[in-house]
Amino acid sequence: MNEIRQRIKALRMELLRHNLDAWYIPGTDPHASEYLPDRWQTRAFISGFTGSYGVVVVTQEEAGLWTDSRYFLQAEEQLKGAGIKMYKLRVPDALPPENWLAKKLQPGSKVGFDPQTLSVSGFRSLDNCLNKAGISMVETPDLFEKIWENRPAMPTDSIFEFKHPFAGLSRKEKRELLEGELKKYNADFQVITALDELAWVFNLRGSDIPYNPVFAGYGIVGKNEWILFVDHAKVPLDLKTHFEKEKITLMPYSNFTGWLKSVRGKKIFIDPGSAGFVVYSTLQSENKLVEGTSLVALLKARKNNTELAGFREAMKKDGVALLEFLFWLRENVEKGTETEFTAGRKLAEFRSLQNGFKGESFAPIVGYKEHGAIVHLNVEPENALPLKADGILLFDSGGQYLQGTTDVTRTIALGEVTEQQKTDFTLVLKGMIALTIAKFPDGTKGCHLDVLARKALWTNGLNYGHGTGHGVGHFLNVHEGPMSIRQEFNEVPIQPGMVMSNEPGLYREGEYGIRTENMIVCVEKETTAFGHFLGFETLTLCPIDTRLIDFNLLSEKERNWLNNYHQEVRKELKPLVRKELVGFLEELTKEI
Ligand code: ZN
Ligand code: ZN
Repeated sequence: MNEIRQRIKALRMELLRHNLDAWYIPGTDPHASEYLPDRWQTRAFISGFTGSYGVVVVTQEEAGLWTDSRYFLQAEEQLKGAGIKMYKLRVPDALPPENWLAKKLQPGSKVGFDPQTLSVSGFRSLDNCLNKAGISMVETPDLFEKIWENRPAMPTDSIFEFKHPFAGLSRKEKRELLEGELKKYNADFQVITALDELAWVFNLRGSDIPYNPVFAGYGIVGKNEWILFVDHAKVPLDLKTHFEKEKITLMPYSNFTGWLKSVRGKKIFIDPGSAGFVVYSTLQSENKLVEGTSLVALLKARKNNTELAGFREAMKKDGVALLEFLFWLRENVEKGTETEFTAGRKLAEFRSLQNGFKGESFAPIVGYKEHGAIVHLNVEPENALPLKADGILLFDSGGQYLQGTTDVTRTIALGEVTEQQKTDFTLVLKGMIALTIAKFPDGTKGCHLDVLARKALWTNGLNYGHGTGHGVGHFLNVHEGPMSIRQEFNEVPIQPGMVMSNEPGLYREGEYGIRTENMIVCVEKETTAFGHFLGFETLTLCPIDTRLIDFNLLSEKERNWLNNYHQEVRKELKPLVRKELVGFLEELTKEI
């Protein structure tokens, strides 16, 4: 802990040097990434807290870490003795860092921040609040450069081409699509800072970040500009030749801000939600900025037919691996030697046997009994519960295949289950089915569909504390926007081709957790005198445990849905599984 205290002391020295009263650390990277390379694990470096979400603020007298309910216990534990206080976010009486700063600092104070790692919208909401208290926000260099000895460098892994038959559209076609969108705003180009958007628009992939097949870079894409900022050492020779032929300018990653400074008199599209404040502050005085949801993100979210066909292929591979896993569980749980951890490894192992497998899409969550109620559980061999033929097991996992990315959760009975568990499981299932079979007019937003997945739970005074659905990338990030299905407002409507998760759940702390997650794709349904209607098709192919269903709670329609789904799973997987598993598959998908 002395180490953390030393680091904070060193940071306070830097604050003095820069004439600042506080420094705000958003804890992300210049690309607003969810998963971070070691170089950008700044929150962990300065606080010792290793959770995936949290903001750190350091003043001369105090230091605080703000995080949400997933991490309250972990943060308390990891911050012990560090001289950093934990503050709760997303609770009724929360005191967010900006309000805390407004309370602690005198008018006239200065709060520093690195404009690379704070987004434009992030800056605005802070500035708005601090301004009222007479406190100003000040751009600073990256102070970690000064206080972080042996700070890890960015990974130097090679990037590789991701093209036909997997991508569906060539780089040139994607560029033309984007040009068409930019034209609507009269914009010269879009600045691309999000790594999954960059990977998609350039048909490239990399391995700089765990679970996400992306690489560190920036892009400028427009009618006259076609620039990729990436370290030259990462680009194989044959790709350099391609880029030359296609007139793509290659520039070093570190030249990005310098290049922005040279731009004059342009109309430029930026997404304030993902672009670092540095992009805004560098461009705004000499250019005209157009702000909105990233045009690349919107194009990327609506999968083309090749990508959709790929997803269906990936689901078959995933389905075979999941069936192998279910069979393995049945054979091995009785022995009493397996744990949540070994089960997680086994899931990855079965997936790795599939063609086109490129890695897991996130760290698997395997929660037995009371561990199932911890939404973002991360079990290590030391704290993993042993699996027994009793109670229920929740597992949420996914794979990266060249054909597509997967994300699936099942909750299954390992032995005796209670009536309450069956009721809970069935109410969650009803929600999942209700969203799956929803029909809605074009223009409907995810926040308006969210209630469908919760209605059966709400009716019984139950609820879950996470979103219902997130976008899923195509051999890209398992979580992607810009749309979502959750209670929070999101202005992006659900449109045909969008691939998303559908994952209601229910968690009884200290007892068990239930979640059923399928991936779905938005499709056209019908056009009537009242408009154009959309709906969903299910992509995931994995049996749902009927031993956990209370059939009295299912309507005829829901029962039919389940039978049809199981028929589909059986039809698709039967030709693909080894013959020892055919009987098992038939048993798990039999009509009810
Ligand atoms: Zn999941
Ligand atoms: Zn998910």
